[in-house]
Amino acid sequence: MARPRKIRQVQFPPRYNSFKPCGVPSQGLSKIELTLDEYEALRLVDEQQLDHETAAAIMEVSRPTVTRLVESAHNKVARLLVRGGMLVIQGGDYQLNGHLYHCPKCRNFQERLQKIRTANQPCPQCKESHLVEISLPGARQ
Ligand SMILES: [Zn+2]
Repeated sequence: MARPRKIRQVQFPPRYNSFKPCGVPSQGLSKIELTLDEYEALRLVDEQQLDHETAAAIMEVSRPTVTRLVESAHNKVARLLVRGGMLVIQGGDYQLNGHLYHCPKCRNFQERLQKIRTANQPCPQCKESHLVEISLPGARQ
């Protein structure tokens, strides 16, 4: 009997969830999907430079699972760079734990563990606009 897949813990949603070559219309570009759990493994291991053991503890999965997620993410990002295409970050078995806000005026990003009331929260950087929460369709919160 197959073991049920564990829900992977993801701290914050990505700031941007799609990438494509500059000046190339998205029509006709092949779509490469990076799942949220692959994105989180890539962020922890390559951007934050944590070892696989530490990343596994944060995501609440086994170390081999982190290794598989990172390898899969590397393969997709390499394919995107070499062949071109549209990278879309979506899907996967994950639970989102934090909240990401951004200012539409100065593009400042704020990562918060607790949800904030955006209507009352002026941007801490420019103070001219209110923060907007970046949410992901279908994300468990
Ligand atoms: Zn601002």
